[in-house]
Amino acid sequence: MTAAEAMPQLNEVFPAPIKTVEPGSPAERAGVRPGDLLIRVNRQSVTDVLAYRHLLAQGRATLEISRPVERPSVLSGVLGVAQDHHRLEYDPAAPTFTFDVEWEDPGLDFEEVLFDGIKKCANKCDFCYVHQMPRGFRKSLYIMDDDYRLSFLYGSFVTLTNLTEGDINRILIENLSPLYVSVHTANQDLRQDLMKWWKLKVKDPQAVQIRGMIERLESIDLYTQIVLVPGRNDGEHLDDTVEYLSSRPNVISAAVVPIGLTGHRKNLPDVRTFTREDAQDTLARLNRWRRQFLAERGTRFVFPSDELYLLAGEPLPTEEEYEGFPMLENGVGMIRDFLTEGLPELPAALPAPRKVILGTGLLFAGSLDRAVEPLRQIGGLEIEVRPVENKTFGRVTTVAGLLTGRCFRHAVKPGEADLLIVPPTTLRYGTELMLDDTSLTELRTEFRMDVRPGGATLGELARVILDGVQSSGHQWGMSAHAVKESRGQA
Ligand code: SF4
Repeated sequence: MTAAEAMPQLNEVFPAPIKTVEPGSPAERAGVRPGDLLIRVNRQSVTDVLAYRHLLAQGRATLEISRPVERPSVLSGVLGVAQDHHRLEYDPAAPTFTFDVEWEDPGLDFEEVLFDGIKKCANKCDFCYVHQMPRGFRKSLYIMDDDYRLSFLYGSFVTLTNLTEGDINRILIENLSPLYVSVHTANQDLRQDLMKWWKLKVKDPQAVQIRGMIERLESIDLYTQIVLVPGRNDGEHLDDTVEYLSSRPNVISAAVVPIGLTGHRKNLPDVRTFTREDAQDTLARLNRWRRQFLAERGTRFVFPSDELYLLAGEPLPTEEEYEGFPMLENGVGMIRDFLTEGLPELPAALPAPRKVILGTGLLFAGSLDRAVEPLRQIGGLEIEVRPVENKTFGRVTTVAGLLTGRCFRHAVKPGEADLLIVPPTTLRYGTELMLDDTSLTELRTEFRMDVRPGGATLGELARVILDGVQSSGHQWGMSAHAVKESRGQA
């Protein structure tokens, strides 16, 4: 099959709103304006930016552009009084214009990376976080996406169970490598039992055969993850899965994370939490594999998440043992990475006394308390690490990234400190908004104190504590979430 044949041959078009037009570019010279819509390239529908770039990479391209038309729409305004509004939308009957490029970037940037919408998942996993979310959050957080394009673009994990034959061909021909795959187990029956895909939503029965799929994608590098459910896919099943994944040359690594539970499990099977003994057994198994792989192939291949070490009460691996932190976003190595940039030179005393509360999840509080101990020597600085119980998802949820404004309201009293520092992972990317849409500004007003995100490293956190410098720390939802929000589903 040629690259052109692999492109979706669709009658339907997916008008892609243009965000910016580069000054002096072919698009600008052709009269394209921000807000115009890309309709086709070389007479073909374009489903996403990857397909767009792929078509351009063939050399000559003719881009078809449409200008949206203004349509009246009557919305119910305040007090139920109808108000006239206008919105811009694509009109298939409107005239279009084209311009050509040849080995040249047209100069277009788009509002979204996916023009045809996010591909939804075909599963109902026993450990699905979306099914464990309390009600009342913004809609985008309930979207169950499983889109291989976002996996390639942003590293979000996909299960591959919703792929079509066309998707598979496209991945291979466009070389969408690497992809990030949730494997969970290499035992097909057990995977079906854990993930319970909906037969009607599975487009290609072959796609749910995880071993066959990994083997079919042999030219694509795969970073894999295993979410462990105690008593289901751990123990010897985990050994079998690690052994199988390590036998496939295209599998680069496997991250192992314990199931995350909330107090809002509805219509899901009973699952118990991961205990200290479960975590210790898992680490013992994985450490045997890690030693063997390191000796045989120079990489540890399998990487337990931070949570497993904290649950087991075992020391974290060294920086070197994380081999470049390829799965930081998956909670593998975040704490070691945080500790790696140590404390800056500390003053003997602050110019004025300051009390600082470091709010964090129950899981990380002990480690953070030990890490900031040297700061307690600074005269005039009072630091308290406050473990914040998750009042939104339930006490069983102990990670810092799922704390909300509601949790901090229960944990902090107005005026009791000068500065409250919250984990940067609690904030939506590029904003000061928490999962429940509480803003840091609201918390500042309510708590009558400064409230700031901490840092991605201990050094950054120390600077926020000492100088009030804004951190550049990691925030949640860097990618797939941003795409979901941008589709107006927020
Ligand atoms: S793949 Fe599983 S965990 Fe992910 S959204 Fe679908 S059901 Fe939930």
